Amino acid sequence: MSELNLILMGPPGAGKGTQAERLVDDFDLPYYATGDILRAAIGGETELGKQAKPIVEAGDLVPDELMIGVIMERIDTPEAEDGFILDGFPRTVRQAEALDEALARRGRGLTAALLIDAPGEEVVRRLSGRRICVKNGHVYHVENDPPKKEGVCDQDGSRLIQRDDDKPETIERRLSVYREQTAPLIDWYDERGLLRRFDGTRPPEEVHSHIRATLATLALEAEL
Ligand SMILES: [Zn+2]
Repeated sequence: MSELNLILMGPPGAGKGTQAERLVDDFDLPYYATGDILRAAIGGETELGKQAKPIVEAGDLVPDELMIGVIMERIDTPEAEDGFILDGFPRTVRQAEALDEALARRGRGLTAALLIDAPGEEVVRRLSGRRICVKNGHVYHVENDPPKKEGVCDQDGSRLIQRDDDKPETIERRLSVYREQTAPLIDWYDERGLLRRFDGTRPPEEVHSHIRATLATLALEAEL
């Protein structure tokens, strides 16, 4: 089997996290959410982690070059030999180019950029319906997974609230930032024949089978 070097893209609320979990199970690939691996590099005091620490602590954005370094530190380990799933990077065309170069230097390349998309109104409906219990963070959804008693956690009886992040106006703002940033990136991957689109409004099971089928085809093509 050839390598599966994957990038996962999609707006918040389109089900990217769920699909990532399933892909990790299916293909036994390491999953690199960039926020997590950055924290791990800092916590583990790797060479690059030490460089990133003061920047992150100051609340500044880690420069692209350093972020690529942190990512490649992981991609160069034996666990990513057969591939990886990268989430949260690249976010810009410049970052995509830098990643491309770093992989090419290792004789590797991306297999595909998987875009799990959903229209704005669906994203708002999904995210703004979320309710979180104040005590233990149990998660509900007013339409898809309501508590037995409105506004009260089934598990511990504490109050359910809507986080600021899940308020419609905040979601709209996050979405427009996402669209603005990601649109050129989507085109960039599309032009290179790497983009694969999936309909995030479909049930998760269905999206998952589509992704699996697509990856099976890609793996087959790579062997020809
Ligand atoms: Zn609770």
